[in-house]
Amino acid sequence: MNKKNYRLLFLSTPVGALGSGIGGGVELTLQNAAKALIAKGHEIEIVAPEGSITKVAKLTQIAGNVQIPAQTKVGIDMVMMPQDSVLENMWSYARESQHQFDLLFNFAYDWLPLYLTPFFDRPIAHWISMASLSPVMDAMVSKTVQRFPKAIAVNTRACADTFSDGERLMIMGKGIDVAQYKFVAQPQKPSLAWVGRISPEKGLEDAAEAAQVTGLPLHIFGLIQDHDYWQQIQISFPQAEIHYEGFLSTDALQHKLGQCSALLMTPRWVEAFGNAAIEAFACGVPVISYSSGGLTEIVRHGKTGFLVEMGSVAGLINAISQLAQIDRLTCRQQVEAEYSLEVWGDRLERWFEELITAHP
Ligand code: UDP
Repeated sequence: MNKKNYRLLFLSTPVGALGSGIGGGVELTLQNAAKALIAKGHEIEIVAPEGSITKVAKLTQIAGNVQIPAQTKVGIDMVMMPQDSVLENMWSYARESQHQFDLLFNFAYDWLPLYLTPFFDRPIAHWISMASLSPVMDAMVSKTVQRFPKAIAVNTRACADTFSDGERLMIMGKGIDVAQYKFVAQPQKPSLAWVGRISPEKGLEDAAEAAQVTGLPLHIFGLIQDHDYWQQIQISFPQAEIHYEGFLSTDALQHKLGQCSALLMTPRWVEAFGNAAIEAFACGVPVISYSSGGLTEIVRHGKTGFLVEMGSVAGLINAISQLAQIDRLTCRQQVEAEYSLEVWGDRLERWFEELITAHP
């Protein structure tokens, strides 16, 4: 087979440094995509805000002020950019260096890179990592995909369906490096886990309440993005045995997560995917999740976890009482079958090939 090796420029999220946790799941997604494609012989450079850390590929750091995360501006029908914007500076770098690459891969959930698509000589693939949050972004997704079919990918069907032109978006799924996660057949003692950015849309208070009612310890992993919200949760559930573990590296996270009986995922928004779910599965940890967005396509109710009506703490508690039904090995096997880096890398490669070939 005449296989091409591509040179790819990855542009990270402009909301914070890669490795800081501010970007949420997209940070792991970008790095896993790089790993998957490097393993297939492609060459990658990552462009990310100053202060970024990554071991997976060559990194170029760009100075400038970060973007305000889109999930804090839901419904605002306006594009906002700070003075000396890191997003602007990253795309100026991309413009200057584009001819060294076959394709640019954008991970920003922002209007600007979509708008810039027709102004670049090289094709741009866009990874839209959250559901539709504002009319201005939704409209730019439509305009881009109408002019450049296949240029935009999302994780799941549920995420695509939130956009006006959802049927035109590529559904690309995800992959993780399963070998990085150790399978734990049986945790030493019962406990619950919660993983994610501590921010209102992630609904941590419901997990805290479930922990308080069941008396099970709750281990919380993730960056505190909203300090007032975090304080309020601690005040509201004084009897809950909460262990805040901090924002950990993938290796440290999987080590502790594997010792938990279940991961609670309690999002109050349409969760586009939920990386934490497949990371838990890789450790053998079942997922009890609100029936929200992409999580409904990931969790197999009664097999690898339970799907519960959004906002129902009673539903969470009932699911916790049924955890003995779940075989932890089935969780691991689902990740191996559906979310391996190899399978995802093949899919990404085919997508890029189509975009590169179709580009004038
Ligand atoms: N995460 C991490 N260390 C922690 C807690 C979380 O690296 O201590 C990462 C986790 O691996 C996952 C991300 O944070 O990739 C959370 O992503 P998810 O898709 O679950 O939610 P998002 O933050 O994107 O809404």
